[in-house]
Amino acid sequence: MAFEGLSNRLQGVFDRLRGKGKLTEEDVSEALREVRLALLEADVNFKVVKEFIAKVKERAIGQDVMKSFTPGMVVIDIVNKELTELMGGTHTKLAKANKPPTVIMMVGLQGAGKTTSSGKLAKMLQKQNHRPLLVACDVYRPAAIKQLQVLGEQLKVPVFSMGDQVSPVEIAKNGLQHAKDNNNDYVIVDTAGRLHIDETLMEELQQVRAAVGPHETLLVVDAMTGQDAVNVAESFHKQLELTGVVLTKLDGDTRGGAALSVKAVTGCPIKFAAMGEKMDALEPFYPERMASRILGMGDMLTLIEKAQAGIDTDKAKEMERKMRNAEFTFEDFLEQMDQVKKLGPLDQLLDMLPGAGKMKGIKDVKVDDKQMGRVEAIVKAMTKEEKRKPEIINASRRKRIALGSGNSVQDVNRLIKQFDDMRKMMKQFSGMMNPKAMNKMKK
Ligand code: GDP
Repeated sequence: MAFEGLSNRLQGVFDRLRGKGKLTEEDVSEALREVRLALLEADVNFKVVKEFIAKVKERAIGQDVMKSFTPGMVVIDIVNKELTELMGGTHTKLAKANKPPTVIMMVGLQGAGKTTSSGKLAKMLQKQNHRPLLVACDVYRPAAIKQLQVLGEQLKVPVFSMGDQVSPVEIAKNGLQHAKDNNNDYVIVDTAGRLHIDETLMEELQQVRAAVGPHETLLVVDAMTGQDAVNVAESFHKQLELTGVVLTKLDGDTRGGAALSVKAVTGCPIKFAAMGEKMDALEPFYPERMASRILGMGDMLTLIEKAQAGIDTDKAKEMERKMRNAEFTFEDFLEQMDQVKKLGPLDQLLDMLPGAGKMKGIKDVKVDDKQMGRVEAIVKAMTKEEKRKPEIINASRRKRIALGSGNSVQDVNRLIKQFDDMRKMMKQFSGMMNPKAMNKMKK
């Protein structure tokens, strides 16, 4: 996971601070020295680190940390606030044109994730009931246009293209006109990148920019490239007056330096964070929530938003009723797995729970998507009747299911046993929830 090293180190420093009842000035200085090292090791720009520590120190002195009853907590709170400030303070919304369409130009080096992010952004806008149009201006990377068309088809978002023999400026202009003619309220222009910054690339991007007058010029940068990402951002910003950054590949084991330095160095806010290859792996970037995740305090707000967007409330209510009445079947079980999957990879969800990183066990549990796949295969190999009435699954049926799903009979046995236990527990639970039983307990 991104930030893991930084997160662990900072939490270690703070645990030691919390453990001490009284703090001396020396304790605080020592802690800040460690914070400084942790940030440097996470590849945060050294100037940024220097300023950061100076600000924390200044605040700590101003607040008379030593006199507080809980000095450790005060220091943590200060670091949390400063980390939030460092990443931009508050969330910066995507611009919206007074007169649609809003034009968003996506720029960045090749491989940073521009095309993928364009698709993700289109999906996000579509979910908010907008009518985005994707414009394919990357005429140099082989297959970039095709890639965008495939994404568009998958998302049911229209893609405007004129092949790769027309100049990007022409395509962008025509794309914008196409959006106006077809009532698209957002235009996302996917431009070409190079392996490194060069003048021809910049000139061409400037021309595209002049042709369509974007309301947003978003730079897509790969968080895995650390300080390089920040340098890239600086040069793009000088030439194109960026309005924001999309930070991709935060699902990888990036140390976090780019996320923590890019705003401070360029002044450009991070507007979105991408955490995976799938089309729904894009989140609006909230500095305070990211700081909270880094410090192991979780991010319940994002988790709740994901749940609200991903879970069908009617289905959830029906599921709850079934659980209460112990009518839960393997069919429901599959459906519930699907719902959970929609929220994103399990280990990313766990990271959003406060303190989950420190809970014994959870950290070492490798949330295994393969294991989930196996369970799913077993359930899918059951007949309709077996799913509804698991009690009829006898030895020969178990053998058949094992064979059909490519698992061992032991795997099948284990799952059925777990399912049985779960149903029993639900029954007990619903027994406890019934009013008569509650009254009995009160007496
Ligand atoms: P472009 O050249 O900038 O248009 O880059 P692409 O959109 O083609 O992305 C390059 C590669 O990075 C592709 O294999 C994407 O699937 C992958 N990618 C993009 N965003 C993410 C992300 O947030 N996480 C991960 N793990 N991979 C990503």
